[in-house]
Amino acid sequence: MKVIGLIGGMSWQSTIPYYRIINEAVSKRLGGLHSARLLLYSVDFDEVEKLQRAGDWAAAGELLGRAAALLQVAGADFLVLCTNTMHRVAPAIEAAVAIPLLHIADPTADAIRGAGLTRVALLGTRFTMEQAFYRQRLYRRGIDVLLPAPAERELVHRVIYDELCRGQLHDASRAEYRRIIKRLVAAGAQAVILGCTEISLLIDAGDAAVPLFDTTQLHAAKAAEWALADG
Ligand code: GLU
Repeated sequence: MKVIGLIGGMSWQSTIPYYRIINEAVSKRLGGLHSARLLLYSVDFDEVEKLQRAGDWAAAGELLGRAAALLQVAGADFLVLCTNTMHRVAPAIEAAVAIPLLHIADPTADAIRGAGLTRVALLGTRFTMEQAFYRQRLYRRGIDVLLPAPAERELVHRVIYDELCRGQLHDASRAEYRRIIKRLVAAGAQAVILGCTEISLLIDAGDAAVPLFDTTQLHAAKAAEWALADG
């Protein structure tokens, strides 16, 4: 079994499900007392969030690149960055190490294409929804991305940072997310990407009339698959 190097803490609320999902998958595959071999480098999210807000992606890339290099030295065989947003600096992380990075958008795109879908809505932080790095990766796989309207994006973003990353789950915010999803479905979305690793803490399949693609679940499950694969 390979050693998974998790770069987490963005936020720590969503790193917990990664640990659980990966171990459940390994236990299911290998049975008995088997569990995942993994390393976790958990950052101080306050530091990362300040760099995001300042738009200092170079410094954020250096910070996560250093974390990646430490995981490599500690014996990680591949890396898993437990956030969608910080894939903004995936190239800097990849440049800092010789081991592969499992990009969160790839298992997500695989699942969408596997379901025969090509037109999906994307919910995430303002950075993930509005900047090119994430959507382009999906476009390249033939997936058309529908975004919430500006005021909806503001709400989705605010709930992530002010509530979900702090462990607060509010019915009023769940209702707002449901309303936004409903409108995007009416606008033609065949499914919705939960493109922020905290969103599945708030909503689940019962909150939408279309399939939800949960990046946390898909990414963590793929990490377990990589860990268990031969070669
Ligand atoms: N975990 C979130 C994501 O998946 C947001 C927090 C962050 O900015 O890293 O994008």
